[in-house]
Amino acid sequence: MIISVASGKGGTGKTLVAASLALSLKDTYKVQLLDCDVEEPNDHIFIKPDITRSEAVSIPVPAIDEKKCTHCGKCAEVCAYNAIAVVAEHVLTFPELCHGCGACSYLCPEKAISEIPNTIGKIETGEADGIIFGHGMLSIGQPMAPPIIRKVKTLIDKERTVIIDSSPGTSCPVVEAIKGSDFCLLVTEPTPFGLNDLILAVETVRQLGVPFGVVLNRIGVGDSKTEEYCAKENIPILLTIPLDTEIARLYSRGIPLVEGMPDWKSKFRELFDNIKEIVDEGSRSLKR
Ligand code: SF4
Ligand code: SF4
Repeated sequence: MIISVASGKGGTGKTLVAASLALSLKDTYKVQLLDCDVEEPNDHIFIKPDITRSEAVSIPVPAIDEKKCTHCGKCAEVCAYNAIAVVAEHVLTFPELCHGCGACSYLCPEKAISEIPNTIGKIETGEADGIIFGHGMLSIGQPMAPPIIRKVKTLIDKERTVIIDSSPGTSCPVVEAIKGSDFCLLVTEPTPFGLNDLILAVETVRQLGVPFGVVLNRIGVGDSKTEEYCAKENIPILLTIPLDTEIARLYSRGIPLVEGMPDWKSKFRELFDNIKEIVDEGSRSLKR
């Protein structure tokens, strides 16, 4: 089963949930934790894996053979990302905007475009006390997170319970991380900002057709509007975590919640059992 952990808004405790879930399940299940928050991966701070492999991730970007180019402008015309421009007698390329789609080289009538690799980041893999771990890291200044997320997701081991930590928000990297999951946990907090971003996140997971539920973190910080929204929309709140200075202190020191406060392990196991039940019920109703 693949469970993704997402949140409409940053700083709601997504990593706390992903890491705690992995650590709570590792003694009973074969667990894999993949951190797809490639702009700011930090599950490794809590899981502390031994990293044993590192691999660069690159995308193919165009290189122009000026001797063959007739400056017809076709490449600039077909590029949907403005990553190539023809100015007078020159073709300019902007690798940082290129999505590596290959349209320009495919459609160049003079075959003047070849593709060269542009490194945009890396993936690292390792293990932490039985948890198979992987994460992606986008290089500084590189805006293209999805290719790295796709690379991290090639590590998915279907024999394991896979937990995917996604980026916050609802943009392309989040969609890339969540799609294909059996379930998505949306972590939010009961504040007006939390609710606003939760509503956007709910729209995203509904469009992806991924079953989902909510983890409500820092209960006590705001109001009851998020709970009212979930009740109205028939969205299950699967776990609540209180606003607690001890939890915040553990987090700031890189100590996983379930290690600093072991009582939480059973709550995260119960969370997993509830997710399993929802996923199993979903597959039963599909068969009916
Ligand atoms: S499509 Fe090919 S020939 Fe035309 S401007 Fe681009 S590189 Fe040059
Ligand atoms: S590979 Fe695609 S995105 Fe990159 S420059 Fe060519 S057409 Fe544009």
